[in-house]
Amino acid sequence: MSALPTIDHWSGGDTFAGTSGRYADVTNPASGQVSGRVALASTADAEAVIAAADAAAREWGRTSLARRTQVLFAFRELLNSRRGDLAAIITAEHGKVLSDAMGEVARGLENIEFACGVPHLLKGGFSEQASTGVDVYSIRQPLGVVAGITPFNFPAMVPMWMFGNALACGNTFVLKPSEKDPSPSLFLAELLSQAGLPTGCFNVVQGDKVAVDRILAHPDIAAVSFVGSTPIARYIYETGTSNDKRVQALGGAKNHMLVLADADLDMAADASIGAAYGSAGERCMAISVVLASEAIADELVAKIAERIPNVKVGPGNEADSEMGPLITGEHRDKVASYIEGASGEGASVVVDGRPEDAKGGFFINPTLIDNVEPGMACYDNEIFGPVLSVVRVHGYEDGVAMINANPFANGTAIFTRDGGAARQFQYDIQVGMVGINVPIPVPVSYYSFGGWKASLFGDTHMYGPEGINFYTRGKVVTSRWPDPAKSTIDLGFPETR
Ligand code: NAD
Repeated sequence: MSALPTIDHWSGGDTFAGTSGRYADVTNPASGQVSGRVALASTADAEAVIAAADAAAREWGRTSLARRTQVLFAFRELLNSRRGDLAAIITAEHGKVLSDAMGEVARGLENIEFACGVPHLLKGGFSEQASTGVDVYSIRQPLGVVAGITPFNFPAMVPMWMFGNALACGNTFVLKPSEKDPSPSLFLAELLSQAGLPTGCFNVVQGDKVAVDRILAHPDIAAVSFVGSTPIARYIYETGTSNDKRVQALGGAKNHMLVLADADLDMAADASIGAAYGSAGERCMAISVVLASEAIADELVAKIAERIPNVKVGPGNEADSEMGPLITGEHRDKVASYIEGASGEGASVVVDGRPEDAKGGFFINPTLIDNVEPGMACYDNEIFGPVLSVVRVHGYEDGVAMINANPFANGTAIFTRDGGAARQFQYDIQVGMVGINVPIPVPVSYYSFGGWKASLFGDTHMYGPEGINFYTRGKVVTSRWPDPAKSTIDLGFPETR
């Protein structure tokens, strides 16, 4: 028997091992060592979890708003006091540095705080005397059991984008976390339980495609929220909707930062470093392409290159590390292959981050590639690593055309001192989230998050007001109280009078 800890499912208020007998290794990316084994659900395991969520759905759905939000307030307090513990768990399995993991928890908490205010967003409209003696009003009701399928890169925040609002709206929740860093899900489940969330309202099914496919087909799942890569997002959307589920599926990204000739170049260079290399580039809002206006391109590339040696790369749990390793050895090798191929395609590798000794951890150092063009592998693909490409453009029109031609449309940014150009950019650009001198424009929790085009399948962005709409159904009630003296028979179509 292996002495490695197992990471199990969560349902019925506790962990359970499941019956599949299948496991996957979980690795500490900083050391390359296997740290645990995560259970991979069978179809029957997934069904057991969904059944628990279904059994709790009716009662939770009719629990008062006051009670539901009390649980979320209590959860917020518990998680706020345990931020550091959750961040340490994230770092151990994901590899991101502790300060970044703390940031992830903080942004996730903002979504819980938003969910605490849900009563305000569930207020319906009321039209008194819409017709004589008739009132009309709207209400929003929970869907029932909803599921979240989440990526490795934000193992705590992305689930919190989903379950806070879903629970606040009166749904029960089934989370299928990434099998690469599954432990934060159990930490969150434990705290929700301590906060007083009734058994069955929040459940975790660990696993892979087997669990996902059962969720997508199960008749008791009303809606699916997904965040991950574009091919899987498309699959989730197509399969879920063909099974009559409501689906929002957020996909991959290739985020461009356009730097105009009048920009503050030090500010733009600092922003490029943070946005390209933070979390080792494993953020869906990372900047992976800088579009440098010709007039300032040489100067900007030089400023970025001179900053790169100052980025401290090391294990995420060491206090002075600013950038950690990549998630797996396989992913590191894939990222390295883009660097390897760039020169052969005509690009110039200004800083090559492939370490000479890659032993003992999945590290790649910050990499800068200049003279990149569409058609090159490092431009056409989402690398999801610490590799920043520079494409030289003539100016505003050229840059905007290139961004709008890209199939991905998650985030983008413009750096300029020209307010008119920035305002025009916000109008012209066909991308869901836009930064003006802000490189990673992740919306605050009271707006909604989501891209356009191949970065989003479905009509609803995630969290914020659109999240509330996603997790509820509208109902309109037309009401008249009996007034026997005036009652008549009328076979005509109801008209307002
Ligand atoms: P992924 O698509 O490989 O996995 C996401 C989830 O889908 C995981 O839970 C995984 O177990 C499951 N999955 C994987 N393959 C599957 C299959 N064949 N069938 C069914 N389920 C499957 O993504 P990842 O590598 O975990 O995360 C990185 C990707 O997520 C990047 O492309 C990144 O841009 C994207 N992402 C997007 C956003 C956004 O908001 N748009 C946010 C974070 C990450």
